[in-house]
Amino acid sequence: MRILVISDIHANLTALETVLDDAADYEAVWCLGDLVGYGPDPNECIQRVIELPGLLCIIGNHDAAALGYIETMSFNPEARVALEWTKMMLVEENINFLKNLPETIQNGDVYLAHGSPRQPVWEYLMDAPTATLSFAHFSTPYCFVGHTHQPVSFIMEPGQTRSQIITLTPNQSNPLIPRTIINPGSVGQPRDNDPRAAYAIFDSEACTWEYRRVEYDIPSVQTRMSRENLPIRHILRLEAGW
Ligand code: ZN
Repeated sequence: MRILVISDIHANLTALETVLDDAADYEAVWCLGDLVGYGPDPNECIQRVIELPGLLCIIGNHDAAALGYIETMSFNPEARVALEWTKMMLVEENINFLKNLPETIQNGDVYLAHGSPRQPVWEYLMDAPTATLSFAHFSTPYCFVGHTHQPVSFIMEPGQTRSQIITLTPNQSNPLIPRTIINPGSVGQPRDNDPRAAYAIFDSEACTWEYRRVEYDIPSVQTRMSRENLPIRHILRLEAGW
């Protein structure tokens, strides 16, 4: 089965639609949280995600904050402005969808968490020592995480006690190696100095996975953000990918 793995859409419908077109051929979708926050299209993105085939979706920290589960004071001032705007915009049906999202999902060989298996909503897996600690918190061969907006993978080979960090090359098929934690990067707000939308394809039959990048129409998103008076810093960062 070919599964599309997306994370950190952050209310960027243009990036999401571009990824869905580019991925083209998939039978199921796993969404790793942060559907909202930062971007101008929170309701539209949730509606689009709800329609996706075979959807598994977990909650991210921005989704939790938009529901009032996390104090927006724990975010930086600009993220807080975007979250307050998001709270005001979300319609009831979409609030209910977010409310029903679990923090983690185990599905066959795969475990899904927004931040990390150790602290699903908040922890950032940026380096191998932090990732190593998380390997003790799930038992499946593979795990997908998001949250950092930086595509990367961590491998813990049999008999090893420390994980290794692996830099990813876009559009290259990789064998699935047990055990691996994969971060597909962010659809709607990449932070690895590459502004293109990021996602992954997981192929459970071929036992491969691929990380991909695709260009999308950034100016159209920036125009909608300006119209809603969303913070200038968030508007500018999209075109540089930071
Ligand atoms: Zn995020």
